Amino acid sequence: MPDSIPNQTDQALPQLICLHCSTPLEMDGIKIRCPNCSANWPILSGIYDFLADGESGAATSDSYLNEFNRIASSDGWQAAAETISRTSANPAHLFEYITSEARADFRFLLPVKDDAIVLDVCGGWGNISTAFARTCQHVFALDTSWDKLVYSNLRASQEGLNYITHLHAQPDEIPLPPASCHIAVFADTLECGFWQQASTNARQNHSKILQSIWEKLVPGGCLYLGIENRFSYKYVLGGKAPLSNLRFISLLPSSLANRYSQSTRNVNYQEITYSLQGITKLLQQVGFSSIETYYPIPAYPKFRFLADLNSKAATEFMISRLRVHSGFNRSFYLFSRIASTLGMLPWFAPGFSLIAYKE
Ligand SMILES: [Zn+2]
Repeated sequence: MPDSIPNQTDQALPQLICLHCSTPLEMDGIKIRCPNCSANWPILSGIYDFLADGESGAATSDSYLNEFNRIASSDGWQAAAETISRTSANPAHLFEYITSEARADFRFLLPVKDDAIVLDVCGGWGNISTAFARTCQHVFALDTSWDKLVYSNLRASQEGLNYITHLHAQPDEIPLPPASCHIAVFADTLECGFWQQASTNARQNHSKILQSIWEKLVPGGCLYLGIENRFSYKYVLGGKAPLSNLRFISLLPSSLANRYSQSTRNVNYQEITYSLQGITKLLQQVGFSSIETYYPIPAYPKFRFLADLNSKAATEFMISRLRVHSGFNRSFYLFSRIASTLGMLPWFAPGFSLIAYKE
């Protein structure tokens, strides 16, 4: 058994549960097995593969990222990140996105205790999971990308962080018991829709995912959510949506957006995004009660500051500090200054960070 597999008999940790009957799973060699219904899932490279369906996660591996992980394995996680970053138009930006634990700095706004159990949903390359694993009891890092999980697992083991369990699973089928986690994180990609192929209703899927996360939280636990704004000033001014590559599509009602996407790309529009009001309503509908809202500066996937949207003075101070940072973006700065003065950030900000509590 690989060393990186956490001890599933440790009573202090939530036990992984069967996706079919919710019975706690038991270790069975290189598999994890349900004693009630005999369903089982393989453990490969230290990762629990709940998407296996008879095949290992390696079957879904992308050959390019496979090579990336070969470098991570032989030369280290940083060398691999440098290699893949060199293929980007902005290598420093991508390297920081993949590796920087500063992406998890929102954790200083959360009630994180030493004994916290953290669920990192769609944690990707693992830098947010590793940041939490340094101070919390345990992190469950879940993703649908096998290659990113392999990379995250390699990084964790190379850094000697034994407190991360990697789960290859869907965000709406999380193999953890109800009320087992103190903190949940969905730092970005809720809108990307890469798990939505089976459904035509992205909004229902988002509701199902958020409901699933809410169920895993203990009372008093909270979710951190980083999310794009469908009415971002960039889209209002004609900027293209990142996945569909279409202008103005996020501003349209979903039925019209779907027809627009069908007529130009011959595929359904799945990149559903929300206004601040829309995502707040969705979080409340699944059961979250108290919701804090922040303005991520300059962007929610990788921010320098998180400004409380209810504090104009704090927001304007942080916007003023933008000038002294490298990568200063003049149009973002001007938008932020004007929108803050006019009280329009909640409508036209590029994205939002939300902290939603379960009572
Ligand atoms: Zn079962």
